[in-house]
Amino acid sequence: EAIDSPLLEVEGLRKEFGGVTAVDGASFRVAPGSFTGLIGPNGAGKSTTFNCITGIHDPTAGTVRFDGRDVTGLPPYALAERGLVRTFQIARELSEMTVLENVMLAPPGQVGESAIRAVLPGLREEVERDEADVVEEAWETLSFFEIDHLAHENAGNLSGGQRKLLEMARVLMTDPEMVLLDEPLAGVNPTLEEKLLDRIDELRREGLTFLLVEHDMDVIMEHCEHIIVMHQGRVLAEGDAETVQRDERVLEAYLGG
Ligand code: ADP
Ligand code: MG
Repeated sequence: EAIDSPLLEVEGLRKEFGGVTAVDGASFRVAPGSFTGLIGPNGAGKSTTFNCITGIHDPTAGTVRFDGRDVTGLPPYALAERGLVRTFQIARELSEMTVLENVMLAPPGQVGESAIRAVLPGLREEVERDEADVVEEAWETLSFFEIDHLAHENAGNLSGGQRKLLEMARVLMTDPEMVLLDEPLAGVNPTLEEKLLDRIDELRREGLTFLLVEHDMDVIMEHCEHIIVMHQGRVLAEGDAETVQRDERVLEAYLGG
């Protein structure tokens, strides 16, 4: 099926590392409000594609368009300002802060803005109101992911699965339009996995768009309405779960490694 007004459009994406071509002219579109899965055997180029879209790598060639604008090569903070965000593992410094502090720190530009406002006495009231809003939103976000009981725990003490929920909570605090997730279920126990997927489904019903890189086929087939299969740096096939599962080339790619 054609995607006429894509939210994300990747065209002829290419990434070389020295002599290795990790992505070799990948093109695909992501419809607004969709839960799209990006799959493919190990080494297919999924993570590199993901990193090129999210500003971690500069593509060798090709374009990334988001919401109608060329965003190729923009750094993560600039993408976040436009509503395109990815999850990040909780960095060492943040693991020594509480869960609540982690979530409150997430909105981009917040620190800089507050610093500017703090020196302008006329805006003090506004600063206080803003901070109260952030606290309230932080608590709402924590309870949405059912980690509010961990608010005062150091992030470094969370289990792997709880940390993934915190990473999602941090991303949501930036008020994104589209969220990219690279293997968000790795090391997550089945109970938390279901919780995380439920939350994603719920957010999608509210209009958020998700692109998920995941090796667990069952999860992809159950939750994603559109699936893109990569192989050897290119898009091999795409469509709904049924279409992709029936595709002989997809079977071969997985069997052939
Ligand atoms: P996937 O996520 O689908 O498993 P990757 O995007 O991680 O695939 O990798 C695609 C190919 O590019 C692999 O052959 C991998 O070894 C290579 N590759 C990825 N990152 C680098 C890098 N930083 N330097 C050199 N080669 C890389
Ligand atoms: Mg990968």
